[in-house]
Amino acid sequence: MRESIRLGSIAGIRIGFHYSVLVIVVILVVGLSFGRFPSVHPGLSTWAYIVAGVVSAVLLLVSLLVHELAHALVARRNGIEVSGITLWLLGGVAELRGEPRSAGADLRIAVVGPLASLAVGGIFAIAAVVTSALSGPGLGVETLAYLAGINGILAVFNLVPAAPLDGGRVLRAFLWWRRGDRTSAAVTAARAGRVFGFILIALGFLQFVVGAGFGGLWLVLIGLFLVGAASSEEQQTRVNAALHGIRVGEVMTPDPTVADATSTVQDLIDEVVLAHRFSTYPLVEDGRLAGLVTLNRVRSAPPGERARLRLADIACPPDQVPTAHPDDLLTDLLPRMAGCTDGRAVVLGAGGQVVGVVSPSDISRAMQASDLRGTRPYPPPRGADLTVPHDKHRWTP
Ligand SMILES: [Zn+2]
Repeated sequence: MRESIRLGSIAGIRIGFHYSVLVIVVILVVGLSFGRFPSVHPGLSTWAYIVAGVVSAVLLLVSLLVHELAHALVARRNGIEVSGITLWLLGGVAELRGEPRSAGADLRIAVVGPLASLAVGGIFAIAAVVTSALSGPGLGVETLAYLAGINGILAVFNLVPAAPLDGGRVLRAFLWWRRGDRTSAAVTAARAGRVFGFILIALGFLQFVVGAGFGGLWLVLIGLFLVGAASSEEQQTRVNAALHGIRVGEVMTPDPTVADATSTVQDLIDEVVLAHRFSTYPLVEDGRLAGLVTLNRVRSAPPGERARLRLADIACPPDQVPTAHPDDLLTDLLPRMAGCTDGRAVVLGAGGQVVGVVSPSDISRAMQASDLRGTRPYPPPRGADLTVPHDKHRWTP
């Protein structure tokens, strides 16, 4: 999840929003201001309900942020670098660069998020009780009570033992400790995640059919996300296990054919592509990496333009080309190999010169080789925290 709006940072941890978070804010404000609040406390002005709805939405985002910060700070204390926190449509994500080295660290990082939500929920509950005892405004009490409840739901829902939810991490840590094998623990937790996702999809459809409306759609959305995330987590766990400990230099194709960034597309086709079997051409200018051209990019250049277009015009720009050094771990490079290079990376020597390329076929060859050698355990990707933003019974628009 890449952030779209950067907010700043807390304790050195970058905080951002993805635009999709606006969807959840609108859904919350509309649902609360025109659904729940007027039905529980009738007779107030529309603006009073809208203000209470906006305050609730903002404080819910703050609550999510506290949950993610708890994960991030404990992860950092356990030696894992945190690249940032992003809030999005379905909740929050703390992006950790790396994986816990022990089952105990895995457990601590996972469990602290729901604990933080419980604590925040408790604070809102106390505030609601105090406000009520002091005969404060009923709508204020209702807002605080709603926030207490939603934080409680957040804690409980995320403790369901299904990866990538926090509960799935707890399950993984427990199985890791019991079995002494992180890969098999992670695979079990991911499978539980997929099963839970399918259950949510089924429940969502059921709700939709019996007329509960929007709440059902939300469950389907969360279920679909969980099934997808759990499946890719299982796959990545297997890939990482197979490639554990392998260096980039061991799998790269060395001494690739490089092209001059200023040559034309037609020159490359005539002089290089038709004569070589490669599909990846790093571009160089003054001995430095200046971009990357793949056969796909060459093919998508309009035939009539190929004599005019320079390679630099059709290349993936250098700042977007994933690069690594031969001594880097392949499992550190893999997560960065998405984007405009069609899954390729360029390997640079100590002086910044191009010494190799890594392509998907290099990776699959390494995977097959590791099948022959037998595998050792290793990590999957990060988690996700999901939120259930409303009281579905009061909230059919
Ligand atoms: Zn969490």
